[in-house]
Amino acid sequence: MQEKYIPHEILLIKNGELALKGLNRRTFEEALMTNLRYRLRHAGDFILRKAQSTIYIEPKNDYADLEEACDAVSRVFGIAAFSRARVTAKDLVAIQQATVEYLGDRLATAKTFKVEAKRADKSFPYTSPEISREVGGYVLSHYHHLKVDVHNPDLLIMVEIRDFGAYIHAQQLPGAGGMPVGTGGKAAIMISGGIDSPVAAYMMAKRGIQLTGIHFASPPYTSERAEQKVITLMEKVGRYAGHMTLHIVPFTRIQEEIQRNCPEEYFTLIMRRFMMRLAQWVARDNDCGALITGESLGQVASQTIPAMAVVDCLAHMPVFRPLIGMDKEEIVAISRKIDTFETSIQPYEDCCTVFTPRHPCTRPKRRLVEEAESVLDVEALMKDALEGVRTLKL
Ligand code: ATP
Ligand code: MG
Repeated sequence: MQEKYIPHEILLIKNGELALKGLNRRTFEEALMTNLRYRLRHAGDFILRKAQSTIYIEPKNDYADLEEACDAVSRVFGIAAFSRARVTAKDLVAIQQATVEYLGDRLATAKTFKVEAKRADKSFPYTSPEISREVGGYVLSHYHHLKVDVHNPDLLIMVEIRDFGAYIHAQQLPGAGGMPVGTGGKAAIMISGGIDSPVAAYMMAKRGIQLTGIHFASPPYTSERAEQKVITLMEKVGRYAGHMTLHIVPFTRIQEEIQRNCPEEYFTLIMRRFMMRLAQWVARDNDCGALITGESLGQVASQTIPAMAVVDCLAHMPVFRPLIGMDKEEIVAISRKIDTFETSIQPYEDCCTVFTPRHPCTRPKRRLVEEAESVLDVEALMKDALEGVRTLKL
């Protein structure tokens, strides 16, 4: 018979906001487990199990890469903190030896420490204070420079006696926070190639939203490389948001018609009204209940209250703008954190920049915009664009 594989080290995950969610908790935990399984697929074979409000991620064999698993887990929403933990038998001597062996480097550099024990398995013959004392004493006998500090130790060693074994860990790693993707429903992110929309996507995925991307492309004014840039951005966001699809909507004809027939000061607004109409179509077609944009109040002419009013009056679903009250520096800081910044600043033309008017109207009147737009055959242009939508699975 094949012997059971006992991993040397595992990951322990404490749920974040999940703990608060009362009745929905099960759904949330299941979504988190599903997302974790999906994200760990490149790191090797792992067993995931749930017990005592902790998720255990255990390597199935020596090929499973715990380093890579840590990296993946740190980007899964719904996790407040997690730790790497050494696994040993539920035996005091084994625990003492494993503590010194596992944390040797840290014990050598720390000045003070404390052992905190938790005995979830009450059949273990020592109480928690006894375990702390015994393990602490053993550590002191090996590292004479160390002192115990129960209030503010340099190194806090946790020993947990659980159903499946004893775990030793010393450092919590920060999780990505938020809610598991999928628990907040589905929404469509209107993604350009800029800095803002990928950040907006990340922020809403963090609130548990499963994303679908919508991108308006205007070839030949916008290039193949501009489109590739959007794909790369979506893939980078996908490291947090999970798998997504991207719908690319052809926008050239609409923009040319606007340019040919409408007053220049309204170009951007009329274009944005088309984007709103089309995005809702694609969103509804893909079971999305809301749209997301990367708009930030006052950033450009089309991001004033009157300009947004002229576009939002066409909306039949909520439009989320998570960046609306943020400064550019704050947005850039997040884009650097999620590693989209360097891609976003690559200089490829976006459909907005190609047709930017010299003097855009910042305080538009709805009636005047509608009048300017009325020369266009909106229905026909929409139909034409929707027929040309291409869908990519990322
Ligand atoms: P970003 O940095 O996201 O490009 P921005 O500051 O350049 O934003 P705008 O170009 O006015 O602002 O666009 C505002 C929002 O409209 C974007 O954040 C995005 O959600 C949406 N948007 C703009 N262009 C496109 C496009 N080509 N395809 C899809 N959505 C777009
Ligand atoms: Mg833009």
